[in-house]
Amino acid sequence: VLLATVKGDVHDIGKNIVGVVLGCNNYDVLDLGVMVPLDKILATALEEKVDVIGLSGLITPSLDEMVYVAKEMERRQMTLPLLIGGATTSKTHTSVKIEPEYSGPVIHVLDASRCVPVVSTLLSKDKEQRSFYLQQIRDDYERIRVQRQDRLSAKTLLSLEEARKNAFRIDWQSYLPPVPKQPGIHCFDQVPLKELVDLIDWTPFFQTWQMAGKYPAILSDPVVGPEAVKLYDDARKLLDKVVRESWLTARAVTGLFLAASTSTDDLHVWKGKPGEDPYVLHHLRQQVKKAPGQPNLCLTDYIAPVGSGISDWVGAFAVTAGIGLEEHVRAFEMDHDDYHAILLKALADRLAEALAEWLHREIRTKRWGYAPDERLANESLIAEKYRGIRPAPGYPACPEHSEKQTLWQLLDVENATGMKLTENFAMYPAASVSGWYFSHPMSKYFPVSTIGDDQVADYALRKGMTSEQAKRWLAPLLEH
Ligand code: SAH
Repeated sequence: VLLATVKGDVHDIGKNIVGVVLGCNNYDVLDLGVMVPLDKILATALEEKVDVIGLSGLITPSLDEMVYVAKEMERRQMTLPLLIGGATTSKTHTSVKIEPEYSGPVIHVLDASRCVPVVSTLLSKDKEQRSFYLQQIRDDYERIRVQRQDRLSAKTLLSLEEARKNAFRIDWQSYLPPVPKQPGIHCFDQVPLKELVDLIDWTPFFQTWQMAGKYPAILSDPVVGPEAVKLYDDARKLLDKVVRESWLTARAVTGLFLAASTSTDDLHVWKGKPGEDPYVLHHLRQQVKKAPGQPNLCLTDYIAPVGSGISDWVGAFAVTAGIGLEEHVRAFEMDHDDYHAILLKALADRLAEALAEWLHREIRTKRWGYAPDERLANESLIAEKYRGIRPAPGYPACPEHSEKQTLWQLLDVENATGMKLTENFAMYPAASVSGWYFSHPMSKYFPVSTIGDDQVADYALRKGMTSEQAKRWLAPLLEH
């Protein structure tokens, strides 16, 4: 079984778990690692005579990458089964976008526990059982395509113009945006790891290992509890060592800047003096028709408009806990200790999220300083009980990954932290988080969801892209 994280993507914890599970079940696994170009995947599959190709990816541009692989397999007249997995992949995407491109078997594998039965059926000597299974999958995917078409026809989109008229309106005359106590850029070269430990959100850690349930309740769950406790103990032991021996460096850069929103869903951001050429952040607006009284949101609604005479501010941040990770992962791998290699990567991800939490608190209480008296326990931080949000490019309120480029320029992220962007705007090291800060008390997360062709054309124009390019980056939002 050949496994690869596709070009432009750096995430591989899920794929590594699949590799271990298959290995434990006596399958030969050839793992090509991360950021693997299509050519290498297909050439290696032929050279090594593999029986199955498994693709993995986490960020949305990887979905497109997988479509290319499927198309290319068809063009090369391959017949190998293609397995699709990873956090943003879905049965719907697989059935709608990937399966129609390839006449060989295409199967979405929801989680690592499913990979063994799927692979064993695919490789089964019992040809009848195999073709029965494959026909079932094909029928299932066809049903999903039909259902989806029905759902889409039922969804009404407003025109972009109508959606903009129905923006969320803040009464700027009766609100004074808080002025940062320390505007400008701040670098943190080495945030002490021990300050991050208590800010870890453990629930997603268990999800990584495909154990469902909230921490700490999961530890006493009648079914998964005992395994969860073992995993948690191992994680805490390793975490102690990571902190004590400084295996990882937690580094961050953040900035607070004057900003104003435009009537076309952009934010102008000034790093120098206002009046100079601004950096321009491009946002997207909800277009699905809402119930009466519900606005069609865009993140720019939370910032005072250009020309309002009101000074407003926006923040940006990029944090990583992945510096130093690779050598320690390698050491475990050399020792054939895949379990600890994966455990360490999962901990680095947790520390990166904890660092994002730490920095956001630092911003609210000190640097921006609009909540100097905030005292929230970790549960309340996880539940986002504080004022303001930190939406992350690639996530539902700002789903377009290429905007990270502007974030990187604004904060000079690469020089400040060593964090890089891949050609599809995944962050490297993988244990990284970046995003924007909005301070308005009414700001909240929302999904942009489906948008219309008019917004795609408008977005292309604003970004100086061709419509084709814009369509590619906006693919997850285009349901037709
Ligand atoms: N405690 C969690 C935090 C990460 S998930 C953990 O440790 O994994 C929550 C983060 O995802 C938010 O802080 C924000 O950065 C991002 N996010 C969630 N919903 C979002 C949305 N609709 N749009 C943009 N970003 C979102």
